Amino acid sequence: MSDECIFCKIIKGDIETQFVYDDDEIVAFKDIHPQAPIHLLVVPKKHIPTVNALDESDAPLIGKMVLVAKGLAKDFGVNESGYRLIINVERGGGQLVFHIHMHLVGGWENDK
Ligand code: AMP
Ligand code: ZN
Repeated sequence: MSDECIFCKIIKGDIETQFVYDDDEIVAFKDIHPQAPIHLLVVPKKHIPTVNALDESDAPLIGKMVLVAKGLAKDFGVNESGYRLIINVERGGGQLVFHIHMHLVGGWENDK
């Protein structure tokens, strides 16, 4: 946990957020500035700043993030039309929040 981290605050409940998924390791919630009709963030409860900070022991957690995203894609009805799973890494890769997270985006018309 990091006191300064906005996603740690969300996970702790310090910032009111409606979770669309919540278990002992992972939460998911809607992005506050959606870039697509469906835009969710899948976030591990463990504070890991970036992909570059991952180590071998995090492999099951990252795998589980993909599986949670898969389930959410189905829940939100975009599993068949298709979706993107995106992890931005470091500032040059577009990362703004330094608590690792996966974007699930989809729901475009015409399956664009
Ligand atoms: P990234 O650029 O990959 O670090 O993505 C960070 C994402 O977090 C952006 O898409 C923001 O819109 C989103 N975000 C920031 N603060 C919040 C918040 N309080 N609730 C939901 N999403 C947020
Ligand atoms: Zn954090």
